[in-house]
Amino acid sequence: MIQSSKIRFKRPSGFSTIGNCYVLVINGDIYASIGPDWLFTLIIVSFSLTMFITFIYIMAKEVDLVFQYLGLFIYSVLLSSYIIVSLKNPGIIVSPWEIELEETENEDKPMCRKCNVEIELGSFHCEDCEVCIRKHNYHCPIIGKCIGEGNVRWFYAFLTSTVLGISYLGFWIYLNSHV
Ligand SMILES: [Zn+2]
Ligand SMILES: [Zn+2]
Repeated sequence: MIQSSKIRFKRPSGFSTIGNCYVLVINGDIYASIGPDWLFTLIIVSFSLTMFITFIYIMAKEVDLVFQYLGLFIYSVLLSSYIIVSLKNPGIIVSPWEIELEETENEDKPMCRKCNVEIELGSFHCEDCEVCIRKHNYHCPIIGKCIGEGNVRWFYAFLTSTVLGISYLGFWIYLNSHV
């Protein structure tokens, strides 16, 4: 039996909250989200910024040009990947507030009872963020929110650049203590 259903899409814009997350919605799409542990985000942004500034004003002056570029690359990636990963939408699943169904077909799809959205393969309801996340990886307190489909690549970029940044610092200390 085919049911005729009228589907109206609501496309809101503005700042809003979904579960425990603060989101920036533009035309119905989530462009940015900050998680419930945003205080950690501020601490790590300060850490990344300090590393970057320390490099520019102190470390870069003591090394060769090649090492200057290498360090600049590592610390730029460290700072920018952290800012991106902490702001980017990890893949919050929304539906009822952006789609208004006037007549719905009852298809018995598995639903998350807490946020009333359809459960997808690999999605997971985070108890801290109180939202369902697409391809959920894990809730990272340091990032202040969940890692999922939307920000996982930037998360790995952040981890890699942090390891490289600390190694670079170690190497820099080694070089400058043996001159
Ligand atoms: Zn949920
Ligand atoms: Zn979470």
